[in-house]
Amino acid sequence: MKIFNTLSRRKEEFVPLEPGKVKIYVCGPTVYNYIHIGNARPMIVFDTVRRYFEYKGYEVNYVSNFTDVDDKIINKALEEGVDASVISERFIAECKKDMAGLNVRPATTHPQATKEIPGMLDMIRTLVEKGHAYAAKDGTVYFRTESFPEYGKLSHKNLDELQSGFREIKVTGEEGKEDPADFVLWKPKKEGEPYWESPWCDGRPGWHIECSVMAKRYLGDEIDIHAGGEDLIFPHHENEIAQSECANGKPFARYWMHNGFLNIDNKKMSKSLGNFFTVREISEKYDLQVLRFFMLSAHYRSPLNFSAELMEASKNGLERIRTAMAKLKELEQSTQGNSGGGAQTGAMTETEQENVSAAKELVAKYEAAMDDDFNTADAVSAIFELVKLSNSTASETASPAYISYLRQTIGQLCDVMGIITETKKESLDEEIEAMIEARQQARKEKNYALADEIRGKLSEMGIILEDTRQGVKWRRA
Ligand code: AMP
Ligand code: ZN
Repeated sequence: MKIFNTLSRRKEEFVPLEPGKVKIYVCGPTVYNYIHIGNARPMIVFDTVRRYFEYKGYEVNYVSNFTDVDDKIINKALEEGVDASVISERFIAECKKDMAGLNVRPATTHPQATKEIPGMLDMIRTLVEKGHAYAAKDGTVYFRTESFPEYGKLSHKNLDELQSGFREIKVTGEEGKEDPADFVLWKPKKEGEPYWESPWCDGRPGWHIECSVMAKRYLGDEIDIHAGGEDLIFPHHENEIAQSECANGKPFARYWMHNGFLNIDNKKMSKSLGNFFTVREISEKYDLQVLRFFMLSAHYRSPLNFSAELMEASKNGLERIRTAMAKLKELEQSTQGNSGGGAQTGAMTETEQENVSAAKELVAKYEAAMDDDFNTADAVSAIFELVKLSNSTASETASPAYISYLRQTIGQLCDVMGIITETKKESLDEEIEAMIEARQQARKEKNYALADEIRGKLSEMGIILEDTRQGVKWRRA
């Protein structure tokens, strides 16, 4: 398998740290609102990467965080006059619902920044002790960029150029920096903001440190793949590398994968331009699996333009696959009694065996596309060719073995893409379980208003909750 590594700017053969296993960390959203369709792109792309590794027989440990402490969350909480956690828990629950609709499987672990503060304090302490970080007079802790000569290796920027670039920008409140390219690890609290105690000051973590710490805690010092949108290359991922490698004394991630941006009508998505869609808004118009299918119709590194026409095309394409699958399912029942060819009842005829050879070539084409840096666009065309083969050869007179082969093969390839409707019930169950988990969390944090709100939503969905000794059980009304 080849993966384009942002670090080397080349496609490289994938060699896991441990045979048969893959450790992936994907930077997740800041939860202050419903996720937008741009946020959905890395979720869909890297969920597909995960599914393909599993298809190839790897065991995948997939970690994706929720950034739940941030200026935007705090501002929204101040606006509503509630605790910041009310906002973040609300939008984590909403995000999980959107993920379920997009058929994005829950990560092995979804850590949250606010629950990882001790680990962050540990890593910052280590960096200070090793001379890679220092506290300014006001208690802000900065990373000493110059102490890491490899700084800039991911974004292919030169530290000297960065320093002179930053020198032009004066940021109020950051006068304590030794060097303009240094960045914040810990910052003092401001009135009305959530804060934690630390050896330097009461305050909160900078954004970059959370991912270094969560990756270390849930995956270890060295990981296989670190991923996110291309906007994160600099400074976020560059800073993560500096923090992790200086604190752990080991190379951090072997492969850095970045998805291209999603634009709308060829313009950058922005609230002020009025071309901004949340996944929730799109779900009112389309089945979210259409959005997923649309995202996979392009290579993940290319920019992708969202438009009504392209969504219509994706809708029709997905419908074509679904219709073929539905027909195969029906035929699986109705061809049961067919004798087929050869001595064995139900076995394939010679022509069918030839068709299976042709289908296997298409499967090989699909795998070659996916092995080549996850070229989902070409993989999808291989699925379409299989659908064409199926539509022209699967009939009432076919052998059950042939029908089964086609259904399983097309089904499995679609499942890697996450576009199979059959898994919808499962994903709905996952959505319900995610909501129950969010409600439990809210109760633990004595946020009864949120817990009741979630219970209300579940009841609207016809879900009945029962508190039992083994925990909360649910059933459909
Ligand atoms: P944020 O909540 O802004 O930190 O973003 C969460 C994830 O979504 C990150 O991996 C971003 O790179 C990604 N992302 C944000 N906007 C877009 C976009 N328009 N297209 C593709 N990815 C995006
Ligand atoms: Zn991150």
